[in-house]
Amino acid sequence: MSWNGVEILERDDAETGATILIAIHSERLGPATGGTRMKSYPDRDAARRDAMRLSEGMTYKWAAAGFPRGGGKAVLAVPRDFRSADRPGLLRRFGRFVKELEGRFWTGADVGTSAEDMDVIAEEGAPYVFSRTPAKGGAGGSGTWTAIGVAASIEAACERLFGSRSLAGRSIVIQGAGSVGIPLMDLLAAGRARIAFSDVSPEAGRALGPAIERVPPENVFERPCDVFAPCALGGVLNAETIPRLKCRAVVGSANNQLGAAEDADRLAARGILYAPDFIANAGGAIAITGIEALGWTRDRAEREVRAIGDTVAHVFDIAERERITPDAAARRLAEERLERGRV
Ligand code: NAD
Repeated sequence: MSWNGVEILERDDAETGATILIAIHSERLGPATGGTRMKSYPDRDAARRDAMRLSEGMTYKWAAAGFPRGGGKAVLAVPRDFRSADRPGLLRRFGRFVKELEGRFWTGADVGTSAEDMDVIAEEGAPYVFSRTPAKGGAGGSGTWTAIGVAASIEAACERLFGSRSLAGRSIVIQGAGSVGIPLMDLLAAGRARIAFSDVSPEAGRALGPAIERVPPENVFERPCDVFAPCALGGVLNAETIPRLKCRAVVGSANNQLGAAEDADRLAARGILYAPDFIANAGGAIAITGIEALGWTRDRAEREVRAIGDTVAHVFDIAERERITPDAAARRLAEERLERGRV
């Protein structure tokens, strides 16, 4: 794969057989910042490719959000038989590695790591570690912050389609009742939207009660609605699912919602407005980094995250003016900021 990043720092962890990778994709706008993913991979190349792809995504996420950070990502590629007893040691050695970089790379939780893991990494890697537990001075979970940004993005889509940001009476279907989907439903309900959701796990969303309709996961794409909000998996918008959609807009938190780049054109051809995922879902990253690394108050963080709605509106403007898809417009916005070297 082609990658135009800065460098990949790599270290073998002799004690566990794990490989620690820190991919620095861009330092144009600020220090490289991105989560730490812990996972088993078929081989070292697969882990390296994942770190490269994810760090590039972070460059776009920060630049499009107008946030002075660069793209980076860490991958802890662990053996399949990795023992939980070996976890704290690996995390501490990784923390030491982060510390040695003296602020060139900042990290937080991602798939396979938790706030508790960040507490352990921070024992050696502080102050370059965020999303620690509140007990250790961290800002807590990111799901609610991400949901605030998605709700603001849904409002921006409603304004574009219906002339008003109001959610009252808008029908919204949420795929995935997890740490983003649940607080998102609370926010949408507060705005008097009509909500339905689907989840593959019968347990998920049980606490929502019978007032919120549950759609079988296999029917979620066909369900008529104003906004479809993918908050579960990547790759859900593709050649097979896009023709089935009966919504006016797609706005959700899932990373990499488009199966392939041409799926942005498929959505546009069907007249479905798409809010680029890496803009709509940046709320958690922005708030947690802002609170923990930049000393923001929670009020300031909320204002910054809500401003994601304005960024989405700006992207829709560019797309209309330039006759390109919102995905292409968002990439152009990010690339212009990277070119200038400031947000
Ligand atoms: P989560 O694991 O808490 O919740 C995901 C939910 O989706 C689970 O309840 C799961 O059962 C459900 N699910 C899985 N497959 C499904 C399917 N086919 N149909 C319906 N439901 C399905 O995850 P999360 O933290 O809420 O994140 C959701 C998405 O948003 C992920 O793609 C994640 O990468 C992305 N994201 C999350 C954050 C964050 O702050 N948590 C930030 C940016 C992006």
